[in-house]
Amino acid sequence: MALVSMKEMLKKAKKDRYAVGQFNINGLEFAQAFLLAAEEEQAPIILAASDRLVDYLGGFKTISSMVNALTEELNITVPVALHLDHGMSIERCKRAIDAGFTSVMIDGSHGSIDANIAMTKEVVAYAKVKDVSVEAEVGTVGGQEDGMVGGIQYADINECIRIVKETGIDALAAALGSVHGPYQGEPQLGFEEMKEIMDKTDIPLVLHGGSGIPLHQLQRAIELGHAKINVNTENIQAWTTSIRQTLNEKPNVYEPRLILISAIEAVKEAAKAKMKEFGTSGRGITINKGNGRVEDAITTL
Ligand code: 13P
Repeated sequence: MALVSMKEMLKKAKKDRYAVGQFNINGLEFAQAFLLAAEEEQAPIILAASDRLVDYLGGFKTISSMVNALTEELNITVPVALHLDHGMSIERCKRAIDAGFTSVMIDGSHGSIDANIAMTKEVVAYAKVKDVSVEAEVGTVGGQEDGMVGGIQYADINECIRIVKETGIDALAAALGSVHGPYQGEPQLGFEEMKEIMDKTDIPLVLHGGSGIPLHQLQRAIELGHAKINVNTENIQAWTTSIRQTLNEKPNVYEPRLILISAIEAVKEAAKAKMKEFGTSGRGITINKGNGRVEDAITTL
């Protein structure tokens, strides 16, 4: 099935109160693990490349070709979106779109809200023509973002309302206490602010820093409008733990496949656990509309 934008996925998820997982690609085997997990769980999925890793991964075209080819070779039937995470400039978002990404995030959250809105508008105008979805961010997610380590800065509600109304984005990452990377103690998410943003904007919200958040907090965030949750740290921790274990248990092994095969399984299982937590399992059934278009549908689980 061809890659799809995340627009319909997120609308359905918000309506039916579950969240689609965004899983960040750190190499070929991660993409394989995530796609297999999605198919086994019958869950729609968003595969993402963080802009700061795009060159490391071989560039926009390599990533797009890889995800398209894997989706076909692995016979993936669930809806898959390919998203640029934390797009660093208008130019790079356009390059991702031209290379076949079906969704982009333009991260103008480090400048003024006026500059953020202006950048986002330009990306939306370019993306809409190609049926590509756009995510924007207001506030700052703590930890490492765009290669910089910073503190949390809560999203301003009026700025959230403005960016939604003035740009036509499909999803909003409103930073409300989440952190990229491990949390120090229990996460302190701003649920009151979340409710206000949900009530006043009615847009699918995106929770960055989805690793290490207790289930009850994830569920509350989903109830309060989060339709997309980004996960990277838990997957790369599963990967590293597995490789460390293999190398310790089998000190003579040197063939990459024999080292990585268990790591793929570990990442797949980590991703499946998240899909269950987010309520995405069983939501990725595809239907053929009879008009030549295959569209994603949700089951009524
Ligand atoms: P974690 O690495 O904390 O899971 O966050 C991932 C993320 O938000 C990517 O944008």
